[in-house]
Amino acid sequence: MMHERKLISLSHGAGGKEMGELLRELIISKVKMSGFEEGIGLEDMDDSSTIPLGDIHVTVTTDSYTVNPVFFPGGDIGKLAVTGTINDLAVMGARPLAIVDAMVVEEGFPMDDLKRIVSSMIHTAEGEGVALIGGDFKVMPRKSLDKIIITTSGIGIVSREALITDSGLRPGDKIIVTGTIGEHGATILALQSGIDVGGTSLRSDCASIVEAMKIALELGGVHAAKDPTRGGLAMALNEMARKSKVMIVLEEEKIPIRDEVRMYCEMLGIDPLYLACEGRAVIGASSEVADDIVQKLNKAGYKDATVIGEVRKGREGYVLLRTVVGGIRIVEPPTGELVPRIC
Ligand code: MG
Repeated sequence: MMHERKLISLSHGAGGKEMGELLRELIISKVKMSGFEEGIGLEDMDDSSTIPLGDIHVTVTTDSYTVNPVFFPGGDIGKLAVTGTINDLAVMGARPLAIVDAMVVEEGFPMDDLKRIVSSMIHTAEGEGVALIGGDFKVMPRKSLDKIIITTSGIGIVSREALITDSGLRPGDKIIVTGTIGEHGATILALQSGIDVGGTSLRSDCASIVEAMKIALELGGVHAAKDPTRGGLAMALNEMARKSKVMIVLEEEKIPIRDEVRMYCEMLGIDPLYLACEGRAVIGASSEVADDIVQKLNKAGYKDATVIGEVRKGREGYVLLRTVVGGIRIVEPPTGELVPRIC
């Protein structure tokens, strides 16, 4: 009998359930040296991994960026490649120090566009005080690649006491977001579906979250943090709830969403909780400091930062949403294709 040939599908790369399962089976279960003692390793599937050296954890992360289109309101693939990588370091409590990048470009790609992308990368890294210390550059023949892929790896440091992981949530903690959600996802999705976003105020939130994390960390009491990128807030909170073995209860009316994102989601029947953010952090902090963190963020210009829910004992790994009309629904982890090439 013929063996059915399994093929990779877009859902395998969408950052949801299928990708998690594939990576566990394909890679994580096969690698014997997958981490260092007391460090964050492959199986933790956290935003960054760490190598402990004495009291310091060297923090490492890598991401490939394939966003389509490469230029969008609020950013471009170059800015995204730098901020996305820096943000994965920042949510570990780490200070980003340096990045290296690998660029693969399609033959025939406009030189001016490449210059714009590279200058955007350099400008963004400089603005964050992050060094670009190495890289690689390759060109592939026409049609063997769609325009450009940028892979960025980042290195940072964090002291052992200051290290923050996805698994640190404790019952009683408050869940904070540092700004409105879903803007990057909504913008890219609109552009991909041919909707002219020029006439709307829809724009990506693509930005560094280093400053916001620093403000949040100053008061102490931050137990967990993530950047809700692919799969949006729904994915980030499901991961945090699962790894921390707690239940998260969200208040729908408190989740900050811009009107244009809400309208767009209603129009297309999309849940904004699943739309990627590229400049927001979701933070779990002790209830004693949560309001102070929000106040400090608000004062520093993060005017939409707010508490959106809390952590409870109960159904481990579940994220519940108390809806505006008073019902409760489960916020499932994302499955299926979601949106390809969002980042
Ligand atoms: Mg992340």
